[in-house]
Amino acid sequence: MSAPLPSLRDQLDAHGLTAKKSFGQHFLLDLNVTRKIVRLAGPFEGRSVIEVGPGPGGLTRALLESDADRVVLVEKDPRFVPLLQELDDGAGRLVIVQADALKVEERTLVEGPAHLVSNLPYNVGTPLLIKWLTGPWQPCALTLMFQKEVAERVVAGVGDDAYGRLAVIAQATCEARIVMHLPAAAFTPPPKVASAVVHLVPHAARPDDALLKRLERVTAAAFGQRRKMLRSSLKTLGGAALCEAAGIEPDARAEVVDVAGFLRLAAALGG
Ligand code: SAM
Repeated sequence: MSAPLPSLRDQLDAHGLTAKKSFGQHFLLDLNVTRKIVRLAGPFEGRSVIEVGPGPGGLTRALLESDADRVVLVEKDPRFVPLLQELDDGAGRLVIVQADALKVEERTLVEGPAHLVSNLPYNVGTPLLIKWLTGPWQPCALTLMFQKEVAERVVAGVGDDAYGRLAVIAQATCEARIVMHLPAAAFTPPPKVASAVVHLVPHAARPDDALLKRLERVTAAAFGQRRKMLRSSLKTLGGAALCEAAGIEPDARAEVVDVAGFLRLAAALGG
């Protein structure tokens, strides 16, 4: 049996590591919290898990205790690699990739379906989510920590202040809900804002790539000028005629159109 691991704090000290703001580093050092996140994310039933931004590995430790077959880490900051290697018990379940998650092609990391479980760096959380929701590689579920305001934008419904492009794209592709809230004080160092974990399960039938591209164009135009009527904000895409083809009132504003309505607008947009 291998020796017990030192505490996360001791491991950070032993490696002389401190958080870097430029990498969005706010660490979860309480294993009770990271185990809870992993419980909410799983069970993984022998599938792989990709974790982006493991940092000192609090979430990684909990993932390695789970029923995941493999845990693949993608960490941009090379300083953390030697520390993360210490979590490897030699059973071949841990893979460490030092790379920028925005540039990584996930299909090269895992074979077959995989979950994503991450405490994301705030500065790239939204572009990473868009990549996973609309890109060529599709996870079988995503359990992601965001700043609370971003989490609310992912799960917002029509009529909510936070309803916008992110909600439409997330909910057109997935069932999304907030499963956990965490105060800033739960992190070391504490960020300026609270956080929340969102769990997303892709719909059995995801809109095809062409429809998703059109959905991105329609939502960008509609919410880019959210105070305007759709006949005007969607003018370059077909304006009132596009709305009528989709069964949407041209004098309505983007904030009152539900996800199904945006999917009809995207479908009506054509090639
Ligand atoms: N998972 C750790 C935890 O919960 O304690 C650290 C979370 S911290 C909020 C974000 C982590 O993402 C940091 O380790 C940071 O170095 C890493 N990171 C930042 N940008 C990244 C990127 N583009 N690709 C991969 N990792 C990144």
